[in-house]
Amino acid sequence: MELIGEPMSYCAGKRKYRSIELALDALDAIKAKNNDAQRHKNLKPYRCAICDHWHIGHDHKKAAIIAKPKGPKEPTPGQLRRARRRAAEKAVRAFLWQDRVETLRYLQAAVDREMQAYAAAGRQKVAPQPM
Ligand SMILES: [Zn+2]
Repeated sequence: MELIGEPMSYCAGKRKYRSIELALDALDAIKAKNNDAQRHKNLKPYRCAICDHWHIGHDHKKAAIIAKPKGPKEPTPGQLRRARRRAAEKAVRAFLWQDRVETLRYLQAAVDREMQAYAAAGRQKVAPQPM
């Protein structure tokens, strides 16, 4: 167990440890010395945001004191698999939509040619009738 320097106001009365290993050793010693396991059940080492050492305390999830800063999470294999499946389904939908658009353009061109042929033959334009 090591006690380093003078405690700051927040850290007053708390022991400082240079590493999590030292804090865990100290926690084991505390638990071994005390028979009241229930009282020490929730004791955990945590990294102090103020002094940057390790303390032992209860896990009250204080906002300023976080044992490990959480980085961005890696996607799970399942998330990657679902993302690939969604991308494949999206590509299929995009292909079908493009195919449909091209078909409609082709039909529009056919209708336009037919109307021009009617006009060239001197006939009246007819509005397309719904089928
Ligand atoms: Zn501290």
